[in-house]
Amino acid sequence: MLNLIIFGPPGAGKGTQSEKIIERYNLAHISTGDLLRAERNAGTELGNQANEFIKKGELVPDAVVIGMVRNFISSHSSAAGFIFDGFPRTVAQAGALDEMLHEFNAEVNVVLGLEVEEDELVKRLLLRGQTSGRADDQSEDTIRNRFREYQSKTLPLSAHYTSQGKYRSVQGIGELDVIFNALCTEIDVVKK
Ligand code: AMP
Repeated sequence: MLNLIIFGPPGAGKGTQSEKIIERYNLAHISTGDLLRAERNAGTELGNQANEFIKKGELVPDAVVIGMVRNFISSHSSAAGFIFDGFPRTVAQAGALDEMLHEFNAEVNVVLGLEVEEDELVKRLLLRGQTSGRADDQSEDTIRNRFREYQSKTLPLSAHYTSQGKYRSVQGIGELDVIFNALCTEIDVVKK
């Protein structure tokens, strides 16, 4: 199994690059943001609860997200591997992911961190908000809150994975294909 985490702040390009990576490496894509929005759109209780956090730009509680990821992995157990997009976002989620993969005798192979500075991220998110229909991309206050959550709860994971020798930093500004090639170079190293 090849398991990748695509890491970085909101607007770094995780979703866009994930789409390209799954095509080349035949992985299952798990975006917790997409799963939560699907739950919300379906009007489930989980989705309604999650939406209270999403619309404020806060993280959804760990137990909710971890349960959802566990279900996804169980229902894709024959996948060649996974790309985790927007998960884990807390140290507790990272621990839970290690345990889940351990059940498959697998582990996180590499964490690809997209580096983009904050002013560029705000521009990208507001632009995306014009077409995505995502309320959390349309208000600069909510966007700033998402960054605060990222800084305090998610960014510490880069040190966590660096200490395991798994973190690779990749420049996230520039041509999409140049960024994609840089990501593939890192993936190919662990795939061998
Ligand atoms: P995203 O689509 O990854 O930008 O996520 C949109 C929103 O969904 C975030 O601002 C959080 O409110 C929520 N969310 C997505 N993934 C997670 C996660 N792993 N843990 C907690 N909340 C999440």
